[in-house]
Amino acid sequence: MRKIAFGYSTRCNIRCSHCVAAGDIPDNKKMELGKAKQIIREMAVAGVAGISFTAGEPFIFFDDLLELVALCRELNIYTRVVTNSYWAKKPEKAEQQLGLLKECGLSQLRLSYSRWHQQHVPSGNILNVVRGCRKKDIDYFVSFVTDFSEEDDAYEQFLRDNKLKFFPEPVIYAGRADSFDRESIFTDYQENCCAMNPYLAPDLNMYACCDAGSHFTTTNFFLLGNLKNHTIEQLFIKSETNSLYNCIRSMGISTIASFSGVSAREIVTYRKCELCKRLFDSPELLVKLQEAGGSDLQTWVR
Ligand code: SF4
Ligand code: SF4
Repeated sequence: MRKIAFGYSTRCNIRCSHCVAAGDIPDNKKMELGKAKQIIREMAVAGVAGISFTAGEPFIFFDDLLELVALCRELNIYTRVVTNSYWAKKPEKAEQQLGLLKECGLSQLRLSYSRWHQQHVPSGNILNVVRGCRKKDIDYFVSFVTDFSEEDDAYEQFLRDNKLKFFPEPVIYAGRADSFDRESIFTDYQENCCAMNPYLAPDLNMYACCDAGSHFTTTNFFLLGNLKNHTIEQLFIKSETNSLYNCIRSMGISTIASFSGVSAREIVTYRKCELCKRLFDSPELLVKLQEAGGSDLQTWVR
């Protein structure tokens, strides 16, 4: 099933210091509404069955969001909206906006929550949204972004105390978080496979990875192309047939790192996206991996 993260706009009302989606320079790109609708129609033809509205804060353009969600329902596309919940200061307001989204056919809401988000948005807003979702029968979950430090215990406890459905997500050290100090880690030897759903940015660039990969600007390894020059179908096919992308999906980053000469002792000290950056954002290593991706790497299986 084809799914995509849809960046209608990179504008956000707050400035989280860990934001993977933004660098130091404010980035306020936005698609034209008509263009976004045309692209969604083309996505439906290309067999896209799920769209996650993300990037900046989608509720800033709430009326546009309603139209886009309604169009997705008409085209039988599952929709998720990722939000920081800034708009839910009052329970009544939250309920009203959720009611409108429900009428337009929203499938699921993902609430971003962390000690960085909550410097700007009161935790009570999250409760207002969850209560509204329960009343309006909207599926939701909380994405609890954490660096696993003790500082985050109180934030996790808040979610538990309020019986919210949540999933911890590790901070990705890219974008603004790239400058964060980080603890050394020593992981289990994980495969580190990625599903790799593509990401469409407001400037119509499409990337094979919707997380840190769009920031690998030395090689632009994950950049598939721009919709001004390619069709959605062409860019999906590129994502699905690239042998190295498929190795990331099937064998995982750790096996590729081991194949390319990184020692096992070193691999377990890397976070997944950082190991990915070491492999694929280095022009020399990338050339070698691209040569191997066609044959040698693909036979490097148990
Ligand atoms: S992490 Fe999300 S809410 Fe925070 S600045 Fe980035 S886009 Fe906005
Ligand atoms: S490991 Fe690579 S492909 Fe997977 S999410 Fe991170 S940057 Fe993207």
